[in-house]
Amino acid sequence: MGVTATSVWNNCLAFIEDNIQPQAFKTWFLPIKPVRLQDNALSIQVPSKFFYEWLEEHYVKLLKVALRKELGANAKLVYVIKMENKYGNNEPFTEKIPSSNRSTMAPQELDVPITSKNPELKNPFIIPGIRNIKIESQLNPNYNFENFLEGDSNRLARSAGMAVANKPGGTSFNPLLVFGGVGLGKTHLAHAIGVEIKEKYPERTVLYISAEKFTQQYIESVKKNTRNDFIHFYQLIDVLIIDDVQFLSGKSGTQDVFFHIFNHLHQNGKQVILTSDKAPVDMQDIEQRLLSRFKWGLSAELQTPDYETRISILKNKLYRDGVEMPEEIIEHVAKHIKTNIRELEGAIISLIAQASFNKREVTLDLAQQVVEKFVKNTKREVSIDYIQKVVSDYFEMDVATLQSKTRKRHIVQARQLAMFFAKKFTKASLASIGSQIGKRDHATVLHACKTVDNLAETDKQFRKYIEDLNKKFT
Ligand code: ADP
Ligand code: MG
Repeated sequence: MGVTATSVWNNCLAFIEDNIQPQAFKTWFLPIKPVRLQDNALSIQVPSKFFYEWLEEHYVKLLKVALRKELGANAKLVYVIKMENKYGNNEPFTEKIPSSNRSTMAPQELDVPITSKNPELKNPFIIPGIRNIKIESQLNPNYNFENFLEGDSNRLARSAGMAVANKPGGTSFNPLLVFGGVGLGKTHLAHAIGVEIKEKYPERTVLYISAEKFTQQYIESVKKNTRNDFIHFYQLIDVLIIDDVQFLSGKSGTQDVFFHIFNHLHQNGKQVILTSDKAPVDMQDIEQRLLSRFKWGLSAELQTPDYETRISILKNKLYRDGVEMPEEIIEHVAKHIKTNIRELEGAIISLIAQASFNKREVTLDLAQQVVEKFVKNTKREVSIDYIQKVVSDYFEMDVATLQSKTRKRHIVQARQLAMFFAKKFTKASLASIGSQIGKRDHATVLHACKTVDNLAETDKQFRKYIEDLNKKFT
């Protein structure tokens, strides 16, 4: 007799029954029906979403142990939730949800050396007065490697991240700098590395923090006269993950303090992981000595995902949310939303929401409407960096040339056009546009915009530039 869902489940039940109270067993396990066994995944049907949440919260460990005994280390559990009909057709609506397989991240306790000059070392994450240092990793276990799908666009960064997770501080990828545009997975990957390290090396102290929060803590420490404590705290970390370091641009105090922390960690073989929205060469207003540190390790780019990767990301997302959707709809979304993964997810979530609020089936027509809205809304969000890149490309020069101090006419014009479009397509102030486009002041930007307006009226060639570029931004 072969192994079936029922036989596997019956063995699991026998094991579970031996390990919990009879009442609990009756309430939570007898109503479960085994429905499917495929590869190493057992699907069990539960009567409601609440039931599923209860099992995940209270019995997931026991379930896992029982299942692994039967199916081996790679055993997977999928819940099938039978719910009342939501869509108005006759099929009962089912949701399939994979078991999360992860518990929440436990706080990390750390012994502060008695010789420390600061017996009351302050933990910037904790209310003052608490003595022992418990460091919450601030990691989000839902951002892990398992659900960070691989594709050509992220292969280098992903495998560098894996390598670092296998040997934190022990590879030449130190620091590991992951860079790329908005919504391409920097934060997800940064967490995934941390989560993986905690799993492999539970004794290491991992800390994830955004550069913005780091800056706030630093400012706070200066105000309270605890700058040294702040530095010492960060020097205790084994794996420091700082997200969005471009935020440090122009903040010389924070850069300075980070420089000291970085050196200390690096010298002691601790791992530093950074993310940024641009490559070190394109970072502005970051001190040279810090930039050169960033380049010590590996900079890996996250690029925009190709079509196949977009499809698999969408499918994975749907699978995790327990929703099924026709192939043609998934393809439609993947075909039209190309620039970033957050939008891709946004579109699919909004599609699911529309369908369930309006009790409509997800049709291609609905998908088209949703996608259209998404594409329209997001087109307007161009960044000043992007504008400079497009204008430079158009005039076949690099961004550094466009920003340079030269008075050569065609370069000045390109720069003025970049300023003009930055004013037109972003919400940035004139001062901020000026500082990002070659460190000019607001008056220069204003002058540029006026010049472009004038030339548009009088110079036919120039008008053509504006029209061409305009098309690239709309
Ligand atoms: P960034 O920090 O670069 O702006 P995020 O890490 O916040 O981007 O990613 C945006 C969304 O896209 C998140 O919900 C993330 O889970 C998802 N995502 C990004 N890359 C992947 C990937 N390779 N596989 C699955 N989901 C991804
Ligand atoms: Mg991010």
